[in-house]
Amino acid sequence: MTSLPIRSIRYAACIAFALVSAAAGAQDPLHAWTGGASPARLEAWVNARLAAEKADIDKLVAVHGERTVANTVRPYDDALNELALAGNEAYLMYSVGDSAPLRDKGQELVAKVSSAATDLNLNQDVYRALAAVPLPTNDPATRHYIERALLEYRLAGVDKDEATRAKIRKLQDKITDASLVFGRNVADGKLTVKATSNELKGLPEDYIARHKAAADGTYTLTTDSPDSTPVLNFAADPGLRMKMYLAYNQRAYPANVAVLKSVLEARQELATTLGYKTFADLAMADQMMGSASNLRKFLADVDQASKGASDKEYDLLLAFAKQQKPGLMNISSADANYWSEQYRRARYDFDAQSVRPYFPYDEVQAGILHTAAKLFHVQFRPVPEAKTWDPSVSTFDVYDDTASDHKKLGRIYLDMHPRDGKDKWFSSAPVVPGIRGRQLPEGALICNFSGGVPGDPGLMEYSEVVTFFHEFGHLMHHILGGQGEWSNAGGFNVEGDFVEAPSQMLEEMFRDPGILQSFAKHYKTGETIPSALIAKMNAAGAYGRGRWVQAQLFYSTYSLQVHDRAPGQINFDDLLRQDSARFSHFSFVDGNRMYASFTHLTGYSSNYYTYVLDKVIAVDFFSQFDPAHLLDGPTAMRYRRTVLEPGATKPATELVKDFLGRSQNLDALKAWINEEFKATQTATGQ
Ligand SMILES: [Zn+2]
Repeated sequence: MTSLPIRSIRYAACIAFALVSAAAGAQDPLHAWTGGASPARLEAWVNARLAAEKADIDKLVAVHGERTVANTVRPYDDALNELALAGNEAYLMYSVGDSAPLRDKGQELVAKVSSAATDLNLNQDVYRALAAVPLPTNDPATRHYIERALLEYRLAGVDKDEATRAKIRKLQDKITDASLVFGRNVADGKLTVKATSNELKGLPEDYIARHKAAADGTYTLTTDSPDSTPVLNFAADPGLRMKMYLAYNQRAYPANVAVLKSVLEARQELATTLGYKTFADLAMADQMMGSASNLRKFLADVDQASKGASDKEYDLLLAFAKQQKPGLMNISSADANYWSEQYRRARYDFDAQSVRPYFPYDEVQAGILHTAAKLFHVQFRPVPEAKTWDPSVSTFDVYDDTASDHKKLGRIYLDMHPRDGKDKWFSSAPVVPGIRGRQLPEGALICNFSGGVPGDPGLMEYSEVVTFFHEFGHLMHHILGGQGEWSNAGGFNVEGDFVEAPSQMLEEMFRDPGILQSFAKHYKTGETIPSALIAKMNAAGAYGRGRWVQAQLFYSTYSLQVHDRAPGQINFDDLLRQDSARFSHFSFVDGNRMYASFTHLTGYSSNYYTYVLDKVIAVDFFSQFDPAHLLDGPTAMRYRRTVLEPGATKPATELVKDFLGRSQNLDALKAWINEEFKATQTATGQ
């Protein structure tokens, strides 16, 4: 089920000013942290935004006579803008606030803003007002904005009668509550396995050192990934791998079977109440995919495009495993990672640690800013005097490099290193949405890279460098897509199943030797990262793509199947067996109950396919760039203009067509998948 995003902005000058003077002295209506964030100040600031939102809605509802874009859509977007500011910055303080009370207050306020957003989503007066605005014929962006808002309202059930709306609310509450229970059961459902010291053979030394043997000489390993992933990847003992595989795939079983059923039943009832045949159709109605039947066709096509490579990978892997273990007939799912890891090491002779000395944090940041500046035709200028929430945050203003006046486009904050109590993930967060002529967009990266401490060069893994650029891509989409008329139509507001495509496209750029060698220098010797090392790294990185795509198809298909039929007809185990046989060469392990801990089923519902759809679009986008001129050819600017700048002012299917000149297809995906076979030939000189 979708809801109106809580993202956007506005400068409600008079209202905000009045409230502010009454409250805590001068407030900065765009930045909660200005003047020092404390729980009380944050609360006063968020309350001022919510009061401004309410004033906008009151103004909208109070209009008499003819409804227009100016008297209805404008205050509606202003209201969303206030909600976005409040939600974004409450979330920011929850993530990066410098004290536990401030972070707790942030969390509490996020819930408060989210509840205000739900009220707006269910406000019939606002829905009727928007529906009464004549659709402009000469302004496609505004037309799309109104149509999309009305669709979201209908998907929330706002046009239903009182009794039906009460039922919808109840069903939604039930889904939310049961999903929380599902997640908690997974989080609390840690299992353990016992291993003898003999069974730990093959595991890294530091792994073994982290565990202490009990009095009887056995070791206790948990299903948490720092414990379980190395066992599945490296443990030489097949018995230990099997024990761990089963334990990992039995987390929250059987507790979550009934919970999952209750989620699926409530979702199905919600879908039929809203006029959809299945929940899958409802969940895709406002997405690029559009419907469950479109998804079935898409999955079948991707299957065809990836099956051959996956077959070939398995044949090579089995032949390799047979050399070590004569008589082996097939590889069990419990052994899939182990043999893949052995094969990768033998075949590619690449150790991920060997590139770290070339990626010290400061050089990487400079390289990413430089690459992004060229690619997106912008300039980044440091703003050392900017007020931020922590002295370690660096601030840059973004200027347009296409016009002679170098117009300012927005601001970015880079909060890149761990601090006590700070959120542990890597993410990109909108702070201020953009509104043309009134408010410049601002965004932040919240990351936990090493470095940032005197004396520590902060050597990064290559995958972290790629993550940095990926998140930076979201930020640029927010800044470049935040130059339009509507706060709620920026880069982060595109369809949920498109939002990752631009950033996934950027990941492909960072395999280019020219780009990497422009900044990757050895932190001690200054030596540029050698071409041969990049080639090896890229070859190893391309291994296993057929299997990866087939695994994505497996998860996508399973997620679809439990949401596209009556819950009473679903047998979780039968479907699991069928789908495993269809998408995996590895033999099924009896007792696998992975659905009980597959949290994407509650989080993404039927829409797990997003990962593979965005990969298809990302590699198709990337294939349009001239490999010899990734940054300086004309394609980069065309990409900025057609995909990023429009933000969410048109359907993503049109953004894709505007750039590619057609819809996405699978040609680039096929080439991407099969690159590993080409790469192997090059690496071995065949
Ligand atoms: Zn992302």
